[in-house]
Amino acid sequence: MRWTPVDEKSAPQSAPGMRLVAPPAVFFVLLICQLLAACGSSVHAYRTESILLHGRFAIIESYATSPINPEEVDELLVQVAHILGVRVDPIARKPRIVVTTPDRIGRLHGAGAAGFPGHGHAAALYFPRANLILIPYFDRTLLGHELAHYVSDLYLKIPRAQWEEIAHWVERQLTLRFSARERGGDAPDEWTRR
Ligand SMILES: [Zn+2]
Repeated sequence: MRWTPVDEKSAPQSAPGMRLVAPPAVFFVLLICQLLAACGSSVHAYRTESILLHGRFAIIESYATSPINPEEVDELLVQVAHILGVRVDPIARKPRIVVTTPDRIGRLHGAGAAGFPGHGHAAALYFPRANLILIPYFDRTLLGHELAHYVSDLYLKIPRAQWEEIAHWVERQLTLRFSARERGGDAPDEWTRR
């Protein structure tokens, strides 16, 4: 049996002397969109079963296929706590950090939006008094923000109305410190002021 391409039957027949040409710009935009979608899904891929990792100061439950280093998470928590003038206590209730899909985070945010501290979007979540953090992947700024909520909640007992402002301030301090390290220089004054 001869294989007949679908296009051969369904494509409109061009008039003699006329060529049906797909607009090149549209074609390439479609192609690029497909490639971007494929790249995006492979960068942040997730598995159905989670893996459990125990850091000194945090417990990580990860559904992501990309690796996450508990020592890096511990170090970030120590830095966030230091920025806020707190020493991390290894016997305090550890944050449980779940690395999961943006869809799941979005659904949980939508289900309990009123209960979350000031998040207009749902890139990541902190569940007050539960020491539970949800992130889609490891990122110092993203996780640092949520860890600031954890420290504000568990250690400092700061009213929730102030959490967001504090977390954004911590984000900026983390960036300053990271930049200083990259340059091989000392931390800026602002870093040690508080
Ligand atoms: Zn927040």
